[in-house]
Amino acid sequence: MINAVRIIFALISLMVLNADNQSIAQEVELSSNQDFQESHLETTEIFNSAEKALIHSNRVFKVCNVIQQASNDASIGIVNLIAGKSGLKLEATELLPWGDALEGLNAGKCDILPWATKTLERSQFMNFTRPYVRIKRVVVAKKEEPYIRDLDEVSDRVFAMLRNNYAVTQIRKTHPNIEFVYVDTVQDEIDYIQQNKVYGTIVSLYSAANLFNNEKVRELKVVGVLPSIYDDIASLATRKEDSALHSILEKSLIATNPRLIDEFMSEGAVVSYDPDVDYQKYWQVAIGVVLVLLILIWWNRYLKNLNAQLKESQSKLELLSVTDSLTSVFNRLKMDEVFTQEIEKSKRYHSPLSVIMLDVDYFKKINDEFGHNVGDNVLKKIAETIQAKLRTNDYLGRWGGEEFLIICPSTNVTKAQLVAEKLRTTLAKTDFAPLKRVTASFGVAGWENQETQESLISRADSALYRAKDSGRNRVCC
Ligand code: GH3
Ligand code: MG
Ligand code: MG
Repeated sequence: MINAVRIIFALISLMVLNADNQSIAQEVELSSNQDFQESHLETTEIFNSAEKALIHSNRVFKVCNVIQQASNDASIGIVNLIAGKSGLKLEATELLPWGDALEGLNAGKCDILPWATKTLERSQFMNFTRPYVRIKRVVVAKKEEPYIRDLDEVSDRVFAMLRNNYAVTQIRKTHPNIEFVYVDTVQDEIDYIQQNKVYGTIVSLYSAANLFNNEKVRELKVVGVLPSIYDDIASLATRKEDSALHSILEKSLIATNPRLIDEFMSEGAVVSYDPDVDYQKYWQVAIGVVLVLLILIWWNRYLKNLNAQLKESQSKLELLSVTDSLTSVFNRLKMDEVFTQEIEKSKRYHSPLSVIMLDVDYFKKINDEFGHNVGDNVLKKIAETIQAKLRTNDYLGRWGGEEFLIICPSTNVTKAQLVAEKLRTTLAKTDFAPLKRVTASFGVAGWENQETQESLISRADSALYRAKDSGRNRVCC
């Protein structure tokens, strides 16, 4: 899994070159950066006689070769980049741990210490150039440690730190409870972490680059990045008495294009960053996401189902509200509504409209002789029989107890009379066992222009009355 996900990020994004370099470079009136880099510094007017004398002397200046940096040539490399063109003769010492390098400078073992942070205390016996780079500091700990957003989260932990590391002084100010164990080399820091002697270490990202490009350090990771107040701000330091050397370095730095330093630093500090330790967390998150999705899907289905059920019961209710429960044909309420609509249509389109009113003959006798249930069944059968004989655009409804109303749109009274006659004969022939025979009387009326619903119904009613009066089982108009 180690190589499964490798996010390669260059430290360039986290290193912010001190903007002062640029602005001061403009203040000091050099011919131009470009000319400066192209020609030998000696030929320019920027060095005074003491500085020129030092450059021309046989003295070889030793660069303190600090061990913890990204590569073994990083220390001599950065000094060469900044001051190489001045003509100074430069040479790297053997690799030195940071503490030894700092002490080595003061002891005269080396003359130029790169990566040095200017402090008040150090300023008493050392000169510092302006900063040439600003590097983020990071917390490095074991892979299984959770990521941190703030030093507060680890304020009770123990860190292994390089002796004389200025970061300790900085962190002490804000987090006095953090405990530090001092070691000499980065390897010691790693060992202490791996042996659980300490929680972690705080190093600059530039040093972290060296650390993580070492295969043996795969058990560690960057668990957090410190805010910029803890940045490693690096200058070139020299001994106080080497003032001419200091001013050569300072002038050279001012004349150096910051972009070149930027490039140098980022080349030396590419980290293979391997966050695979957190796969467990990713899985937890993934499982969480899947769970939420499943719940959403289930909820969605549940709502859909509920919606379908609601719709179904709604349409059932709607149907119930317009139908007669016994015969399942339209009820009187619905017939009233249909009637109003059809009269409106007829008015608008001047189309004929007829109604047929029918009433079962001697129905009381059926109830009396065979019981109410048989009577109910007779009503059901009559409704079924009539419905089967009607056209689809005719409306059948139960108007009263054993009275039915038929509305026949686009039908004149003559045609409606024929329909009624057909219904009458059909009913008379229908088997209503246990009854011998069931008949009905029909009153038919055709709609006359501007006539109201009530008037039309009442005329159908009178026709029906006449049919009854004239012997039943007949159609009257
Ligand atoms: P006519 O030939 O003059 O119409 O005589 P009829 O007996 O049919 O008329 P009447 O109006 O005297 O009686 C109708 C009976 O219908 C009275 C009532 O009890 C019965 N009835 C009304 N609604 C229902 C019902 O839903 N079920 C049953 N079984 N009987 C009903
Ligand atoms: Mg009746
Ligand atoms: Mg009747």
